Amino acid sequence: MLTRKSADVIVIGAGVIGAACAHYAARSGLRVLVLDRGPVAGGTTGAGEGNLLVSDKEPGPELELALLSAQLWRELAEELPSGIEYEAKGGLVVASGEKEMAALRDLAARQRAAGVTADEVPADRLHDLEPRLAIGLAGGCHYPQDAQVMPALAAAHLLRAAGGGRVRVRLGEEVTGLLTGAGGAIRGVRTAAGEYHAPYVVNAAGAWGGEIARRVEVDLPVRPRRGFILVTEPLPRVVRHKVYAAGYVADVASGSAALQSSAVVEGTPAGPVLIGATRERAGFDRTLSVEALRRLAARATELFPVLAGVRAMRTYVGFRPYLPDHLPAIGPDPRVPGLLHACGHEGAGIGLAPATGLVVAQALTGGEPLLDIAPFRPERFSPAA
Ligand SMILES: Cc1cc2nc3c(=O)[nH]c(=O)nc-3n(C[C@H](O)[C@H](O)[C@H](O)COP(=O)(O)OP(=O)(O)OC[C@H]3O[C@@H](n4cnc5c(N)ncnc54)[C@H](O)[C@@H]3O)c2cc1C
Repeated sequence: MLTRKSADVIVIGAGVIGAACAHYAARSGLRVLVLDRGPVAGGTTGAGEGNLLVSDKEPGPELELALLSAQLWRELAEELPSGIEYEAKGGLVVASGEKEMAALRDLAARQRAAGVTADEVPADRLHDLEPRLAIGLAGGCHYPQDAQVMPALAAAHLLRAAGGGRVRVRLGEEVTGLLTGAGGAIRGVRTAAGEYHAPYVVNAAGAWGGEIARRVEVDLPVRPRRGFILVTEPLPRVVRHKVYAAGYVADVASGSAALQSSAVVEGTPAGPVLIGATRERAGFDRTLSVEALRRLAARATELFPVLAGVRAMRTYVGFRPYLPDHLPAIGPDPRVPGLLHACGHEGAGIGLAPATGLVVAQALTGGEPLLDIAPFRPERFSPAA
């Protein structure tokens, strides 16, 4: 049995969020142990697209986190020793009619006031940006800050590049319990291999973050919000930006359990076009939904008619970690000293990972956070709050 002090901090989860927390904690000089029951990026991170979007966010705390993250991703793309397929390609949001265009214009104006660059594109200029786009659209908005990474590579390189060998990763080890000591403070975690001791534990277990919290009788209502992605055969560059219909923003913000299917279309360096993604609350059910895929294909071909003649190569499914107010839980949990959370990022965890990792590292080292993390308080759902 392992019983020695294992690290300054233990991170549960080797998805992109756990990797970013480990990365910035190690850069702050802490010794980090990352535990995952599966492989790196074997949870939702390996099942998502890699959109780093500011364009789909209303002004508010999530947009602030996204703007900080966008800056950090640019820096990481320079710093990480090998490619994470970072592409600063920009986003193009398109409106099908005048009513949608008016709503998009209004959102863009409010986003500009919050620091986002958003350039309106009149209908007759859309094809300068995206030559294969459908005709007859009412216009759009170009967001140069939107970018893209390959999520699994990004998680792996964040872990590998973290400061001077200060991160150890143990895969295939499930955390079965959290250890607490005097006054209920965190002492470490338990796995089948034994106990690992540390004064801090970061819950970066994504859609399973609620289960980790329950192990110390803390309520954190993280639920899965399922999404399918359709992957085409490799194509020459037919889609240059991240392109999506303005209605997508409303789908993201919706709390409905029903199937939603506005498409986000993006090319990849390897050639396949990713068509994402449906949203629905259906538990952890991985059953293939033909209806979800049919809708995705229909929405994508509405935007890019050229895709109608293209074969779908495969599809995959993932579970966004969803909290009822669509904001993640980030930071120390006052109910359990030594426990921090970094989960519940729903459909934006790839984009929000670096800023999350940085503010968690600042909380661990007592540094002044770069932004106000009060809106992400993990205890905000408990009746006492
Ligand atoms: C279809 C789809 C498309 C998406 N597209 C995008 C996008 O374009 N841009 C974007 O920003 N986001 C996107 N997302 C969302 C994004 O993928 C998630 O927000 C993000 O991956 C969450 O990362 P995470 O590290 O919190 O969770 P995960 O990647 O799920 O990592 C959690 C890890 O914890 C481990 N774990 C859980 N319980 C235990 C335990 N008891 N012991 C040990 N290990 C444990 C799991 O094995 C897992 O590896 C998409 C999601 C889906 C489903």
